[in-house]
Amino acid sequence: AHLARIEAVDEKVHAFLHVDREGALAQARKVDEKRAAGEKLGPLAGVPLALKDIFTTEGVPTTVGSKILEGWIPPYDATVTKRLKAADVVILGKTNMDEFAMGSSTENSAYGPTGNPWDLTRIPGGSGGGSSAALASHMAPLAIGTDTGGSIRQPAAVTGTVGVKPTYGGVSRYGMVAFSSSLDQGGPCARTVLDAALLHEVMAGHDELDSTSIDAPVPPVVEAARNGSVAGLRIGVVKEFRGEGYQAGVMQRFDESVELLKELGAEVVEVSCPSFTKALAAYYLIAPSECSSNLARFDGLRYGLRTGDDGSHSAEEVTSLTREAGFGPEVKRRIMLGTYALSSGYYDAYYGSAQKVRTLITKDFEKAFEDVDVLISPTTPTTAFPIGERADDPMAMYLADLCTIPSNLAGNAAMSLPCGLAPEDGLPVGLQIIAPAMKDERLYTVGAAVE
Ligand code: GLN
Repeated sequence: AHLARIEAVDEKVHAFLHVDREGALAQARKVDEKRAAGEKLGPLAGVPLALKDIFTTEGVPTTVGSKILEGWIPPYDATVTKRLKAADVVILGKTNMDEFAMGSSTENSAYGPTGNPWDLTRIPGGSGGGSSAALASHMAPLAIGTDTGGSIRQPAAVTGTVGVKPTYGGVSRYGMVAFSSSLDQGGPCARTVLDAALLHEVMAGHDELDSTSIDAPVPPVVEAARNGSVAGLRIGVVKEFRGEGYQAGVMQRFDESVELLKELGAEVVEVSCPSFTKALAAYYLIAPSECSSNLARFDGLRYGLRTGDDGSHSAEEVTSLTREAGFGPEVKRRIMLGTYALSSGYYDAYYGSAQKVRTLITKDFEKAFEDVDVLISPTTPTTAFPIGERADDPMAMYLADLCTIPSNLAGNAAMSLPCGLAPEDGLPVGLQIIAPAMKDERLYTVGAAVE
């Protein structure tokens, strides 16, 4: 049924870069056979899922939304892919994304943009717009994204779906193509809080193939999602996340959510995190710096695309020509920014300062969590904007992640879930919940209560 749905609507939405029809049907048949033979089935047996094209899949193309990996067939599965298969999930295919997860609208994909199912002329968010659009258009009940600065939560917000960035280190990054290794985190996307929890539990947990993976039990997210309640909890509203640039209808729905939380028995207080106003600036030094280092591996020799390989060019020229042809404008911009920020003489002024701001942000969170159980804010300042509107204005695009970036810099856990439609445009608004590191279950306790 889901493959038929994809066939019927994906021509318009363009959520998938690759539909693995044969693979999906083979996995589904395997589940049927296991069931018939009375074998033990995995926890998500037979449930279809859309996988962001940043996770390697053995034998199935993985492009990361870039021309530089066009034609590359990974010889191995990411840990997340492996765990999905072990849970008997049916992987329908790979979803569209901003090239190397750099963007907030999926317009930076080398394979063309994805439309927001609520209004196809608008963006579905990014970088994981394909995954959230697949959920919102009912092409898949579950999806997976990655969140470096908001790429799970912001697409969830603008498509009226649920997205969770687990605590950094909660989900293995092995086989997840690296953008900014100290920020990147894979996580679940779904249409309900409980669905997200069921997927979270399957994909999370220690992995010795990822040195930053946390060696501790997975937080009890499913139990929390089944027992949603906010009675007796202290909830902090981040004071810095309102004001200029925030759409009136977004704030209206957010304020109503605050009232609902109070009615349900939570104590809501205002909390100030002054360093959050510097988060965007710090992120746009740290993320490009790490990207400039990570993307050095795409040298035209190891993977995918190779240009200028006609015998008339040196190896260095082949690398340069391949990178020139294979990387899009935003990726090049970030590589240049990062290379500059890391260069001798500038390192302390840019990268060093950004790391200091990162520490201040972490301290703001620590202080806040001494007083409250979770923090809340709008997920994004505005609803989905029209495709093309911010494409030529990187600064305007970067503002989409104003409220999501602090959690990546501090490494804690955060969720976006729908909290109604903005009255002025009828488009979905997201409520963000932030929990301390390794307290991911609190997101689900609160999320399930207000869903
Ligand atoms: N929009 C942010 C960026 O462009 C975040 C992307 C992400 O989380 N992958 O870097």
